[in-house]
Amino acid sequence: MSKKVRVRFAPSPTGPLHIGGVRTALFNYLFAKKHGGDFVLRIEDTDQNRFVEGAEEYITEALEWCGIPFDEGVGKDGGFGPYRQSERKHLYKQYADELIEKGHAYYAFDTADSLDAHRKDHEAKGKTFIYNWHNRLKLTNSLALSAEEVAAKLDAGEPYVIRFKSPQDEILHLQDIVRGDVKIDTNILDDKILFKSDGMPTYHLANIVDDHLMEITHVIRGEEWLPSLALHYLLYRSFEWEAPQFAHLPLILKPTGKGKLSKRDGAKFGFPVFPKEWNDTKEGQLYMGFKDEGYFPDALINFLAFLGWNPGTEQEIFSLDALIETFELERINKAGARFDIKKADWFNQQYMQLKSNESIAIAFKENQAELADIDINYIEMVVDLIKERASFTKDLWSLSHFFFVAPTEYDEKARKKALKEGTGDILNKLVEIIEATEDYSVETLQTNIKGWITDNEIGFGKVMQPLRFALAGALSGPDLFQIMFMIGKQETIKRIQKVIDML
Ligand code: GLU
Repeated sequence: MSKKVRVRFAPSPTGPLHIGGVRTALFNYLFAKKHGGDFVLRIEDTDQNRFVEGAEEYITEALEWCGIPFDEGVGKDGGFGPYRQSERKHLYKQYADELIEKGHAYYAFDTADSLDAHRKDHEAKGKTFIYNWHNRLKLTNSLALSAEEVAAKLDAGEPYVIRFKSPQDEILHLQDIVRGDVKIDTNILDDKILFKSDGMPTYHLANIVDDHLMEITHVIRGEEWLPSLALHYLLYRSFEWEAPQFAHLPLILKPTGKGKLSKRDGAKFGFPVFPKEWNDTKEGQLYMGFKDEGYFPDALINFLAFLGWNPGTEQEIFSLDALIETFELERINKAGARFDIKKADWFNQQYMQLKSNESIAIAFKENQAELADIDINYIEMVVDLIKERASFTKDLWSLSHFFFVAPTEYDEKARKKALKEGTGDILNKLVEIIEATEDYSVETLQTNIKGWITDNEIGFGKVMQPLRFALAGALSGPDLFQIMFMIGKQETIKRIQKVIDML
C-alpha cells in the first residue's frame, strides 16, 4: 500500500503572507485533498531575528478566509506536533550530532570577523569566498583541527556552528516533478550551516528533520527553494531517510513579465499582493489586501490556481471542488506566471454572477448606508438588473444609485449630449404617455413608448437619451423600462418633470 499523502505549507512568520505564499498553500491543499491526504501548516520560526509579531495569526487567518484551512497545525494536533519549530527546539541538536558522527557534518569555530576577512581577501582578488571542500581544511573547524584541539574548544565553551560537509566531485541527479531531472555538480555547493551558535537549527536542518518526522510525502514549494534542493537531497541521503518527492512552483512575475512580483509592486501598481490588509508599523505602510479590496475568496483562489497551472482545457471557472478534482502536479508550468490583476477582476466579475442575488443584496445593504431602510427584496431586484456590470460589491452603488435616490447631480457632458432642441416637447409627451399607462409594467411601458416613437418616426436616441438622463443622471445603465418600473410612476414623472424645468 502506498503511503498516505501528507504535504505541508511551511511559512516563516517574518511578515504577512504574500500572494505567492497563498498560491503555494493552495497547491499543497489541492494536492492533499485530491489524494485524501493531510495538509499540514508548520510555522518555521527558527530565525528569531526575523520574527514579526502578528505574522503567524495573519497566516492562519488568511488561509481560513481563502477557504483552504489546514488539517494539522498549531491548535489542531494530528499527532505530529508541536507545529512551531521554536517549540521543537530540543529535537534538532541530536540530528546535527548524528551527522557529525556519520562524518557528514563538522564543528566550525570561525568567528564572524575571520570569515569577513576571508571574504574581503577573496573579493580583492576578484574571487568569491565559499566555505567548502576547496578551503575548509584551511579554516577553523573540526576537519582541520586535531581531536584534542576541538575537544578543548568545546570544553572552553567557544561558540561554534555545525556545517554540512558537502561531497566533492559528484554529479547529483535530482528529481523534481515540475522540472524533471535537475543536475547539480556538488563542487559548487557551500558547506551550509545546519546548527547555529544560538542553539537553534537553521532552516535547512529543521526543515528536513521536520519533514521526515511529520512523514511528509511531497514537498510543494516556491522556485526560490530550488537552489536548496541539492543540500536537502544530500541531507536525506546522509540520514539514510527516504526523501519526499519535490515540486517547485514557478515564480509569480510582475505585471510587466519582468522580474519577480514583490510587495512593493502592490503599492507601485495600485493592486493588492497580500490576501488581507497588513499594517506594517515598522515601515509605516499599510499594504492593501484582496479581502479588503472586495475580492471574493473563491474568485481569488480560482485566479491563483491559474498562476502556474492550467487544466489543459479551455475551462477557466473552477470551484474549489472542481480544482481538487482536476489538479495535477504534472500540469504545473516551469515558466514564471505573470501576475495580471485584470484577470483577478475578471474572475471576481464571473463569481459575482454565480452568487445569489440575495447574498449580494445582503452585502450591498451592509456596505451602503443609504440602503439601511430599503426593503431587501427591492435591493435584490436591483442587484439582478445590474450585477452583470459589477466586478465588486463596491461597484454596485455607482451602477444603481438611481434606483434608490433621484439624481441630484447631472453629468455635464451627458447633459449636452442628451438635451437638445425639441427635448422639452419630447419629455412632455413622455409624461403624458406614462401618465396614461394604467398597467404600469415593463412590457406595457415599452410597448407604449416604443410604439409612439415608431409611429412618429422620431429617432430612438432622441427620446431614450433624455429619458435616461432624467431618470439616472447619466447616459448608460440598465434597461430604462426596468428603471421606470422599479422606481414607480410618480417618481418617474417627477424626475422627467425636473429635467423639463431645467430646460
Ligand atoms: N520556511 C520556508 C519558507 O518560508 C519553507 C520553504 C519550504 O517549503 O521548504 O518559505
